[in-house]
Amino acid sequence: MATVLDQIEVAMCLFDAQDRTVLWNDCFERYFPEHAGLVHAGEPYTENLRRFYRHRLASDELGALEHHVAEAVQRHRMQRAPLEFDHHGFRVRAASLEIGPQWRARVWRKTQPLVTAGTAARQVAAKPAQSRPLSAEVADALESIADGVLLVDSEDRVLWANRQFFDLLGVPHLALSSGCRADDLHALAWQGHAPGPDHAAGLEVLRRRHRFSGAPYELALPRDRWVRVTERRGTSAQGHGYFSYVDITALKRQQRELRMFSERLEKLAVTDSLTGLVNRRRFDENLAAELRRAVPGTAPLSLLMVDVDKFKPLNDAHGHVAGDAVLRQVAQCLAGAVRRAGDMVARYGGEEFAVLLPRTGLDAARALAERIRQRVAALRLPLEQAAAVQVTVSIGVCASLDVPDGESCSAFVERADAALYEAKRLGRNRVEANMPQPGQRDACPGRPRPAQTVG
Ligand code: GH3
Ligand code: MG
Ligand code: MG
Repeated sequence: MATVLDQIEVAMCLFDAQDRTVLWNDCFERYFPEHAGLVHAGEPYTENLRRFYRHRLASDELGALEHHVAEAVQRHRMQRAPLEFDHHGFRVRAASLEIGPQWRARVWRKTQPLVTAGTAARQVAAKPAQSRPLSAEVADALESIADGVLLVDSEDRVLWANRQFFDLLGVPHLALSSGCRADDLHALAWQGHAPGPDHAAGLEVLRRRHRFSGAPYELALPRDRWVRVTERRGTSAQGHGYFSYVDITALKRQQRELRMFSERLEKLAVTDSLTGLVNRRRFDENLAAELRRAVPGTAPLSLLMVDVDKFKPLNDAHGHVAGDAVLRQVAQCLAGAVRRAGDMVARYGGEEFAVLLPRTGLDAARALAERIRQRVAALRLPLEQAAAVQVTVSIGVCASLDVPDGESCSAFVERADAALYEAKRLGRNRVEANMPQPGQRDACPGRPRPAQTVG
């Protein structure tokens, strides 16, 4: 198929379900010489797009490269209708075809060059001027569809628009007679309204669309309304352009609600509901990332395992509700004791907390642990229907080791745990540190830990 398409000068590239390049034809490399010799089987589509945009974008636009790549990947997955863009001085029409659940092909065909104001003027000069931009039948038909339609001449001047267009944008019909340009319509729609971030984003979209013509784009309108605009420019002999405006306000609102909902869910998934601290799941994720980042010597990672002493008797004496209140207050005390960005206090499980301290050596971690121990011991925790109680904590401390290939998360936690066990053994309400010999991997084997689920 790729070869046959070569014979009729159609470029093609096939991608798999994970957007990886499978195969492409010669014409593809002719249309997009930036890929010649570089595109390869298995290459993610994003790499392909980065080359494409590095080639297209001006140096001051390169900061937005990843944004363009992400948008193009979205288009690739969703594209139903062909779109057009200008590349290497010619115009190409691009279509995307889903082939079963496994593959997606993109095909490109050169079309006639874009009719610019200059070429249109020459063509129009050879023909008698049209008195009306549209016949009555066509205008009637366009008035009866639900979307806004705008017709512009080769110099972007508004020639005609249907009623739905005016209703959507809220611009006066006078815009038609005043020689208004399509580019002015956005400003007209926003006239008299306070411009916010959505307005600024719209200006950026409009600026970019000249470089990436053909693809639909979304614009915010005043009063939280949205349109999706598709432009077909320079496709008629006179160089007329046809724009369609679809009201996507309801869709955008749904998207926003879904986004807020999923952000809330994401937060809930990593938050401990009793204390409001991050939960064990987020701690495990962070621990793995921080251990990879830790640099022994200059930027070690330290860990404090904090366990409330004799918590079971407190629960038994005052009840679980009072116990919960104590856990919340101890959590607040821990969170208040660490201030550096990147430090993390998590509820590890039950009455046990973990404090992760990036770029902190063992001595500094031990000093902080001692401060935490003293602050908790100084707390007088008021309980409902009971006198204030005093609690203490035992803390095990360790710092990341300078060992080949780094240390595993479980080995690291086990060392802090072993130090905590030692603090309990030596009488509680104290801090113990795990101090391995240089090069030693398991200085102190961990105590067995019961499985706990929290949050
Ligand atoms: P140690 O000093 O050796 O740590 O003694 P401990 O009593 O604190 O330790 P143990 O492991 O025997 O008991 C922990 C208790 O913590 C038992 C459990 O009921 C209580 N606990 C665990 N999670 C919660 C919770 O979410 N709320 C309340 N109220 N209690 C909890
Ligand atoms: Mg305990
Ligand atoms: Mg415990």
